[in-house]
Amino acid sequence: MRLQGKVALVTGGARGIGREICLLFAKEGADIVIGDVNLAEAEKTAAEIKALGRKSMSLHLDVTSFEKVQEAVNKILDNLGKIDILINNAGITKDGLMLRMQDADWDAVIAVNLKGTFNCTKAVSKAMLKQKSGRIVNIASIIGIIGNPGQANYAASKAGIIALTKTTAKELASRAINVNAVAPGFIQTDMTAKLPEELKQKMLASIPLAKLGLPQDVANACLFLSSDDAAYITGQTLVVDGGMVMA
Ligand code: NDP
Repeated sequence: MRLQGKVALVTGGARGIGREICLLFAKEGADIVIGDVNLAEAEKTAAEIKALGRKSMSLHLDVTSFEKVQEAVNKILDNLGKIDILINNAGITKDGLMLRMQDADWDAVIAVNLKGTFNCTKAVSKAMLKQKSGRIVNIASIIGIIGNPGQANYAASKAGIIALTKTTAKELASRAINVNAVAPGFIQTDMTAKLPEELKQKMLASIPLAKLGLPQDVANACLFLSSDDAAYITGQTLVVDGGMVMA
């Protein structure tokens, strides 16, 4: 019960990695708010959380709009009184080689992944500043560290998240708000299921632990960074990738 009595907001928590974070955090004692554009899936995950004996809210939330994010934060504060943990997990891909990449695909990925993380951090950290405590975990990617052909938009958004993590960690540290990032490698989710088989085999061959990661592996890292065990860690990026990228 490492998160007993805490309230966590998980963006994109309806399915995939976000869903796994919600369920693990609930098992560890946290009440959970899922903010997702996919309200139908969010409600299913919220029902699973309630079955674990925790409070759960699912909100339709598009992280690209600061106004909508602020409305959601106000609703959470009215209903649950506080937000102790923010997991900026909502993310999308719209792949294509840089020379052929449409402006709309560049803009959409930056808007959800990078601006969405900024919007939620800005709105939630105001409440955390008053509380003089908080944990923010941003889901980046190893692609933001090493780059990847066909993912200029995604790589730039995730590298931006790593830089944003360091800056917000410095700005918020004096009020005991820790901000860290988790950079997953190749994780078994719907996002990776749609990749071509040839590319999957190539990536698998580059993983020293010789297997794909599971959403639980990412959730475990988020739990550590949100728990008291990580009280003296801020501004860091924890890579969860089976050894693909070693500094
Ligand atoms: P999924 O696509 O499985 O789930 C993402 C969730 O976010 C979906 O419920 C999606 O809704 C929701 N979402 C999309 N856009 C928005 C938005 N504008 N506002 C709020 N919610 C939104 O993704 P994963 O679980 O695979 O990935 C989660 C995070 O982990 C992402 O940030 C991703 O970049 C990162 N990551 C994933 C890796 C992997 O291998 N899977 C590797 C490295 C990083 P909808 O159902 O409508 O799409």
